[in-house]
Order: sequence, then structure tokens, then C-alpha cells
Amino acid sequence: MKAKVNSELCVGSQDCVNTCPEVFKMDGEKVVVIGAEVPKEAEEKCKSASDACPAAAITIE
Ligand code: SF4
Repeated sequence: MKAKVNSELCVGSQDCVNTCPEVFKMDGEKVVVIGAEVPKEAEEKCKSASDACPAAAITIE
């Protein structure tokens, strides 16, 4: 599983970082994805973060 953040849409709310710090981290006012693959144990949290993103900026593949 892979996660992507559209930095054009991200409003820097940090919700995803709080929900799933294994995958998302702040880089200035935007979020970046850590690593190429979402760790298996973080997949559910990553999906929750995607669903809860207020800007719909997170895509899961
Ligand atoms: S939850 Fe969405 S808008 Fe908020 S920091 Fe994460 S990617 Fe950006």
C-alpha cells in the first residue's frame, strides 16, 4: 500500500500526523509521506487518516 499527499490541497491541519505518525510528518506547513510503502501495521490508521483529511488531500493506492 502506498499513500500520497497532494500538497496543493493540504491545508496543514496535522490530523493525519496525529492519526498515523508512522506514515505522515510535517515538512514546514505541509505534510510529506515517510517511506515508499505504508508499513503493514500502519495500514488501518493510514486509511483512517485519509478518510478524515479535511482537504481530501490523501490518496491511497
Ligand atoms: S489531514 Fe490532510 S490537510 Fe491535514 S495535514 Fe494531513 S494531508 Fe494535510
